Amino acid sequence: MSPENKVAVVTGGGRGIGQAIATVLAAKGVDVAIWDLDKAGADNTVTTIRENGGTAVALEVDIADRDSITKAANRTRTDLGPVNILVNNAGITAYEPFATMTEDAWDRMIRVNLKGTFMVTQEFVAEMLDAGNGRIINISSSSAQTGAPAMAHYAASKGGVIGFTKALAMEFADKGITVNHVPPGFVDTPLVREGPVDVEQVATMMPMKRAGQPADVAHAVAYLASDEAAYVTGQTLSVNGGRYLF
Ligand code: NAD
Repeated sequence: MSPENKVAVVTGGGRGIGQAIATVLAAKGVDVAIWDLDKAGADNTVTTIRENGGTAVALEVDIADRDSITKAANRTRTDLGPVNILVNNAGITAYEPFATMTEDAWDRMIRVNLKGTFMVTQEFVAEMLDAGNGRIINISSSSAQTGAPAMAHYAASKGGVIGFTKALAMEFADKGITVNHVPPGFVDTPLVREGPVDVEQVATMMPMKRAGQPADVAHAVAYLASDEAAYVTGQTLSVNGGRYLF
């Protein structure tokens, strides 16, 4: 399958890592649907892609809501055709000490990061099975590999994404669909800038003395989305600048 026949959905493509993934895929000739709660952000990504000669559409979607997903999926098919690359990138985070973590906070994290990934993936699996071809790439987190204080809900949600990835990889291995995950380490995005962390200070503690950039993650995703990655499934492609070696 050549890139000009490919259609991708990138959730959370309105900023940060998702925006970089959408931009890199579009630069390779993939038509991209940018799904985001933040329509203005999604529009912004589309504008950048079109200025560079690519094809993209922006859709306002809440991945925690099945109806919203179904409507956006139908619109994506109408505008761009059947989807063969799915990047489950949208996610939320929070820092909350475990002893006082509320059930609402727990449920919200699992609903967006884990159930959202399940619902969006289920929406597209039938057409990938029909085509006998598909690439599913889930953005997990190094927090699920190493643990992270005050992030039990987040780490659990991303650990769930890793198990989900492996289970689907085995279920679809002989169906032409690969399923892999990319755990970013510390990547300089609006999400991180909004948190309590001093990006420049943490960067000095990295082996490479810099934070990751969204494009670092995007190029790893583009590889997993490519025809060349056909024999790679169920795998972890960590993008953390050598911070964690496993
Ligand atoms: P970000 O907050 O900068 O961007 C996330 C995007 O997802 C936003 O545009 C937001 O509007 C969208 N989004 C959030 N909830 C949504 C929902 N319910 N429906 C649709 N869209 C929604 O975040 P980022 O740093 O670019 O992170 C992207 C992914 O990478 C997330 O899954 C995050 O957990 C993961 N990650 C990031 C880092 C990092 O250091 N930045 C590290 C590990 C994992």
